[in-house]
Amino acid sequence: MVSAVPSSVDSVTSTPPDAPLLGRSQAELTAWIQEQGQPAYRGKQLHQWLYQRQARSLMEISVFPKVWREQMTQREHAGELDLGRSKIHFRSVAPDGTVKFLLRLKDGHIIETVGMPSDKRLTVCVSSQVGCPMACDFCATGKGGFQRNLTAAEIIDQVLTVQEDFDRRVSNLVFMGMGEPLLNTKEVVKAIHCLNQDVGIGQRGMTVSTVGIPGRIRQLAEMGTLDERTPQFTLAVSLHASNQELRQKLIPTARKYPFEDLLEECREYLLITGRRVSFEYILLAGLNDSLRQADELAKQLRGFQSHVNLIPYNPITEVDYKRPSRESVEGFAQRLRDRHIATSVRYSRGLEADAACGQLRAQKV
Ligand code: SAH
Repeated sequence: MVSAVPSSVDSVTSTPPDAPLLGRSQAELTAWIQEQGQPAYRGKQLHQWLYQRQARSLMEISVFPKVWREQMTQREHAGELDLGRSKIHFRSVAPDGTVKFLLRLKDGHIIETVGMPSDKRLTVCVSSQVGCPMACDFCATGKGGFQRNLTAAEIIDQVLTVQEDFDRRVSNLVFMGMGEPLLNTKEVVKAIHCLNQDVGIGQRGMTVSTVGIPGRIRQLAEMGTLDERTPQFTLAVSLHASNQELRQKLIPTARKYPFEDLLEECREYLLITGRRVSFEYILLAGLNDSLRQADELAKQLRGFQSHVNLIPYNPITEVDYKRPSRESVEGFAQRLRDRHIATSVRYSRGLEADAACGQLRAQKV
């Protein structure tokens, strides 16, 4: 079922006239098309063609009058009208079917998006920023610095690009591409709302991954409580260590965010939304993958309705961390399970073609 997020981001008046069409609701598209002298029922058609048929230009929308389409296309070419679609700059397919895209935005910036198919699902890994200011030591994106936040339209476009390329509906999406979503909460929430309401992706199939920004996890939970609705997507917190000392070595920004404060905010998130929090934990050989550290992590999370996702490190060229052996990964996972922590291991996909998140852009730009 399609569930809703805050109506505060859905106000008709909030959209500036020169904003791209992507991100607008059916009511907003109807208002727009009437302003262009077309009858109201064409708003529903435009909505359908934008979000279900991934139209890249109004010219494609064959149900519209040809003369009008030609006029509008001239405006598109003159830069007066923007649907909000990016251009595919580079595309690569891994043997497991994962497709990685580099997308070129209007201002020339390049972002990464990944489509991961399985029998039942098509998952998209989306970016929320161009680059990232968090500078986590093991992450390729952080090495390239930060350029800017993405707009909601630029986030929605990534999902439509994957839907179009696979010619199949996207069922799941994870904010695990470039960037820190909670430094761009407003646009991220707006995009989630549109992807849910207009593209038709269930919120329960969506995950927002964050390294944690003080106060922002609570804010995210509370944004969803406006209009007495709570967010139904999953919050995933990149923990990566079992104590503050090690965490701040791996994640420099964690210096300003004590471990206990982060966990406390996650507890509040659970309380407000009723949704179990996921913790992501990159396993780095010899650094955070000992059984003693598994015990410490289990102790930190004791009594907390949560789930731990272990991610064996994907080597990047800039740093010298090591990926642990499969045996060691499974040993760590088993130890957590023995301590009654729900645990899964995520073996990365698409590694054959071009390695870890953020690396493709570093190689191809
Ligand atoms: N800024 C957000 C989302 C982007 S990263 C966050 O940090 O959660 C998404 C996930 O990929 C995070 O858990 C991140 O730590 C992980 N990741 C980044 N670089 C990685 C690498 N080299 N190997 C394995 N996982 C990595």
